Amino acid sequence: SNDRVINFGAGPSALPLPVLEQSQEGLLNFEHTGIGIAEISHRSPEFTAFLAQVEANIRAQLAVPPTHAILFTQGGGSAQFAAVVLNMLARYKLLHPERAGADTPLDYVVTGSWSKKAAEEARRLTLGGHARVHVAADARAHSADGKTFDTIPPRSAYTFSADPALVYYCENETVDGVEFSHEEGAPTAFPFDLLNPSGEPKLLPLVADYSSSFMCRPIPRLAEHAVIYAGAQKNIGPAGVTVLIVRQDCLVDVDAAARLGALPVPTMFSWKTLADSKSLYNTPSVLSIYVTGLVLERMKALGGPQYYEELNRKKALKVYAAVNDGQEKGVFKKKVKDGSESWMNVVFEVLGEGAEKRFLDGAKERGMAGLKGHRSVGGIRISLYNAITEEQADKIVEYMNWFVAEEL
Ligand code: PMP
Repeated sequence: SNDRVINFGAGPSALPLPVLEQSQEGLLNFEHTGIGIAEISHRSPEFTAFLAQVEANIRAQLAVPPTHAILFTQGGGSAQFAAVVLNMLARYKLLHPERAGADTPLDYVVTGSWSKKAAEEARRLTLGGHARVHVAADARAHSADGKTFDTIPPRSAYTFSADPALVYYCENETVDGVEFSHEEGAPTAFPFDLLNPSGEPKLLPLVADYSSSFMCRPIPRLAEHAVIYAGAQKNIGPAGVTVLIVRQDCLVDVDAAARLGALPVPTMFSWKTLADSKSLYNTPSVLSIYVTGLVLERMKALGGPQYYEELNRKKALKVYAAVNDGQEKGVFKKKVKDGSESWMNVVFEVLGEGAEKRFLDGAKERGMAGLKGHRSVGGIRISLYNAITEEQADKIVEYMNWFVAEEL
């Protein structure tokens, strides 16, 4: 493992070295069964016990209340773009059989490429008139050129519907480097209070994509969400497993809803099917779940999301300080407005002819990879997920400072 580089990639991303070493053992012999984890039956007592432990571990670390189920599935965040629409529309149909139809609003808060994509999937699925997408806020309207995702919208921008089938947001936009603040009351925090102006107790249909910020810190107001989901491949494991935290009232009989006219839901997309089968309706991604389980065990031993919150805050502060310093000196240009910057994905530009390539080449020479921005937006992206240590963050900061001095 001496020739491993520091991987700042946005996903799949770095995993803790001790976990990778431990996985090697499991690959040969899972928990003394004499069978490797990629070979063992998903219905073996050893694996089902392991899966239950992974669930318990997430429940304990994020303090998930008994009102919510924790489920595991495949298809990544992208499959959930569709699943959230289908399951939440089925729920709405059962709640309001008369009202549900072409005018049923699906509220989307669009703050970057991924929430935009989710809204597009909702539009596709409702082309036949089963609901309508309402963009409750579009961050682009608040950028200088009207088309860049570089900020969380101001609180005055939100136009939530009175009784939507879902309200969707993406907590951290991986491509654009924009995230909601998790500080209660911050101007860029998600406006939970605007969702339910009357203040009466209500089961909000609130859906959050946490793919690139899951377990990087505690989740604000977790219990008020209908669904939180995340692909594992950034903070907690390899690609191939998606974690869902679903409130019980959203585990609905999708066939009963379809009989009333709701969109039919493929078995594999029904959250209730997943819940009823304890996430074993079909063969899950056994190997990915295994590695994820090891990452979570390690997280727990280190102090859980509270520990990572402190660590990730420190890493982000240091890297943004280097970006800001480079910006003052005319070498870097920050892409995201103050108060909306992601802790997980730091995006900026390197100014000047050929300078971006010089930056990337120099990083590569020093054993640092995965720094190229998403192909749709370019620039540099430094991803600082949980597995990136403070020493590794220091290493890129040191390089950034050197690079700035060199460019002057
Ligand atoms: N949402 C976010 C915030 C993401 O970062 C990604 C992937 N980078 C997705 C959704 C899509 O996830 P997947 O590739 O697992 O389908």
